[in-house]
Amino acid sequence: MRFDVLTLFPGLFDSYLRHSLLEDAIAKGLVQVHLWNIRDWSHDKHHKVDDRPFGGGPGMVLMAPPVVECVEAVQAQAQPPGRVILLTPAGERLTQPLVRRLAQEPRLLLVCGRYEGFDERIRDILHPWEISIGDYICNGGEVPAMVIIDCVIRLVPGVLGDEQSIAEESHNTPGELEYPQYTRPRVYRGHEVPPVLLSGNHAAIAAWRQEQAALRSQQRRLRPSLVDAPHETPPPHSSW
Ligand code: SAM
Repeated sequence: MRFDVLTLFPGLFDSYLRHSLLEDAIAKGLVQVHLWNIRDWSHDKHHKVDDRPFGGGPGMVLMAPPVVECVEAVQAQAQPPGRVILLTPAGERLTQPLVRRLAQEPRLLLVCGRYEGFDERIRDILHPWEISIGDYICNGGEVPAMVIIDCVIRLVPGVLGDEQSIAEESHNTPGELEYPQYTRPRVYRGHEVPPVLLSGNHAAIAAWRQEQAALRSQQRRLRPSLVDAPHETPPPHSSW
């Protein structure tokens, strides 16, 4: 599967591409990621790609010519031309069923916005698939692009060591969450691993997991009062 990421900040992907599953998937030739700097398609000698909005208002808007021409040039680089994904908070919300649809595509072009977003004519001309990673605002489309790559590559055959992990994950069916997991030590600060998991009785373990998954899904997804309940904030992992 091939991803082409169109961005003003290709450097943001440097570390991401060199770690963990994605690095392995690229090394095995299962996944390709190509980075393109939209600024290279600027018509301006100072490589400007944004301008003030017509009608006034705050911030800057990404201009249509560099974005449209970058997409067209990247599509022409290889076959198939690929589906154009515009990352935008106004797009279709990313869910696991949508991730499965994306994983069927051989090639995705992920267009990352910045500033106040895209000149509307980018949509009119490219007719992209607009996707949002959730109802909140990121500073740019780069993190949303990484989220999409991260979710989709898990479904590319051969990327995960054990394909069974996909079969049992949360959200495979909307609203259904995975059961609780435990590993060593058996007791930590007085908290014990549920004895059934140490019993060696596979039928009992499967039944316990099914029951726990149903309970967790009920509590966290089907009862909005609990989802919205205030949580105690844990201390920071590290401070900068
Ligand atoms: N003014 C825009 C609006 O209200 O919809 C938000 C612009 S945002 C600061 C800049 C860029 O970040 C967007 O063009 C988009 O590419 C990306 N972005 C921000 N939040 C996103 C989200 N939830 N999903 C996908 N992309 C997002």
